[in-house]
Amino acid sequence: MQLPTHVLAGIFIQYLVMVFIPLPLWLNLCLIITFCVISHFFIDAFAKITYHPTSRQTGRFWLSWHIFVFAFGFLLIVIYFQDYWIGMLAANFVDIWDWYFLRNYARRTSQPEWGRKYYLHPIADKIRSVLFKRLPNYTHSQIAILLELFIYFGWLVLFILTL
Ligand SMILES: [Zn+2]
Repeated sequence: MQLPTHVLAGIFIQYLVMVFIPLPLWLNLCLIITFCVISHFFIDAFAKITYHPTSRQTGRFWLSWHIFVFAFGFLLIVIYFQDYWIGMLAANFVDIWDWYFLRNYARRTSQPEWGRKYYLHPIADKIRSVLFKRLPNYTHSQIAILLELFIYFGWLVLFILTL
């Protein structure tokens, strides 16, 4: 799924662990990081029921959706950075490692296969193929942004209620 979904998962997990699991801070941090990283795999395993083409698409829709997603993700990071940066970072660690570190390094060195064996996303692929193989594939269906919009709308309602 997209950046804001992972960011919201990180915030939510960190909040739940801090509020409901009374442990020493360092143990809470270990739990937050572990749960957040695991959440990334499960959320990505679900990504096939959302609009999620693996490569850049032509046309306005793909671009508009991705501008919105990154702007909204950035807004969430700014709003929650001070209290939830650990959860947000841990929930996005898998993307940071695979896409921003390994793939970027491979591109810069013109070795597209470099580091592939260290990619973490195959774990999400495995979870998808074992647990969610019956789910329909909507990765190229534009209407499938609705699930993520529903999640973002849920955040908005919670945000307004807790102001
Ligand atoms: Zn991912």
